[in-house]
Amino acid sequence: MTGREWIEAVFEQVRARNAGEPEFHQAAAEVFDSLRIVVDRHPHYAESGLVERLCEPERQIIFRVPWMDDDGKVHVNRGFRVQFNSALGPYKGGLRFHPSVNLGIVKFLGFEQIFKNSLTGLPIGGGKGGSDFDPKGRTDAEVMRFCQSFMTELHRHVGEYTDVPAGDIGVGAREIGYLFGQYKRLTNSYESGVLTGKGLAWGGSQVRTEATGYGLAYFVDEMARTAHDGLEGRRVVVSGSGNVAVHAIEKMQQLGALVVSCSDSGGYIVDDKGIDLEIVRDIKERRRGRISEYVDAVPSASYVDGGSLWDVPCDVALPCATQNELDEDAAKVLIGNGVRIVAEGANMPATPGAVTAFRQSGVAFGPGKAANAGGVATSALEMQQNASRDSWSFEYTDQRLAKIMVGIHERTIETADEYGMPGDYVHGANIAGFVKVADAMTALGVI
Ligand code: NDP
Repeated sequence: MTGREWIEAVFEQVRARNAGEPEFHQAAAEVFDSLRIVVDRHPHYAESGLVERLCEPERQIIFRVPWMDDDGKVHVNRGFRVQFNSALGPYKGGLRFHPSVNLGIVKFLGFEQIFKNSLTGLPIGGGKGGSDFDPKGRTDAEVMRFCQSFMTELHRHVGEYTDVPAGDIGVGAREIGYLFGQYKRLTNSYESGVLTGKGLAWGGSQVRTEATGYGLAYFVDEMARTAHDGLEGRRVVVSGSGNVAVHAIEKMQQLGALVVSCSDSGGYIVDDKGIDLEIVRDIKERRRGRISEYVDAVPSASYVDGGSLWDVPCDVALPCATQNELDEDAAKVLIGNGVRIVAEGANMPATPGAVTAFRQSGVAFGPGKAANAGGVATSALEMQQNASRDSWSFEYTDQRLAKIMVGIHERTIETADEYGMPGDYVHGANIAGFVKVADAMTALGVI
């Protein structure tokens, strides 16, 4: 069997064994596409069941999360933690609270996380978790009771040297606070390093909140530089208006770009003068409102209910909302309108058809596992500060983040060059991430 045939056979096995998990298949297919190239050149990676082991989580935990709402009604949600790979360090990856969460989604995110964490160059393994709980519309007291119930089971499986969860969609500082409070109470131990994304007063790191969005902008800046282009005055469209989107907008504006559009799950706004970020933050962060309210404050802007914000002409497109939000048709519209750079702030927001369209038309495409790795990288910096009982300044932490993103960009580009695919960020990121984990797994034996 050739290396390529073997990879096909392993992929078929992954699909069969994980039936009904399309997002996980999609994430695996994308990585396998790059593995064919690696195995052709280095057949030893096809030995010791290495790829088969990589595709099977080390541990998957599914549990009941019962909680009571403000009216005394009992609800039952499902909790997940998939501990995918710990060859490089403790499992690390966020918790997502969203009604769409199921095992397949958690596995796709956990699988991606292995390679992303490897790419950062920091000692962290890959994992992910969450629940189908929807915090939207719930009171703080309800969210607190849910988080306490969730942690009552999860605390048995996490720890500073075991598994260190963080936030993701629906899990911000409020939820991390309630989760940490319950962990502390159950274990009678102030183990700051068990969760990241904590508040600054109780073990958090400067820049963690901003890190994914800022990191994305630093990465895009490097992409522009590599393409002998600059960001000054470039029109940028950012989907979403959550944590990643807001901080990507902030840093892109600081780098001189003109961000003209952002969205939420209801629709999108266009402000050709440049989005006023303070208004967006007031609506989304302080009032937990809808992005449509932006036009009340800026009547010259427009709001489109539903629709596709990828119709808005731009030089740089940054999908920062959720998976599969940018499909092939949207990609073709962006390409037709002259987009030059697309980089994923969210995890897997571009469908495979969209990614192919961008790569074939010469648009520089930065995959999430490289472009949005700033969040987890800064989480690892938070772990470093907790371990040394230290806290760093905003400027110092931001410099470390910027340096890490430049390093990820460099490793990605160098690996793409080394494997004869210059400028291909997808293969570069997949291969660089894989090789490090694979070498560590080989050294640790068949476990
Ligand atoms: P938030 O919950 O803060 O924000 C999510 C945003 O996306 C909201 O504006 C939300 O709108 C919008 N959205 C969610 N679902 C949809 C949908 N189906 N269609 C359109 N818009 C949608 O999440 P984050 O910003 O933290 O995360 C966004 C993405 O970035 C996720 O893919 C996440 O995995 C990824 N990521 C996050 C990291 C982090 O540090 N936070 C790290 C690395 C990746 P609405 O308010 O209407 O729901």
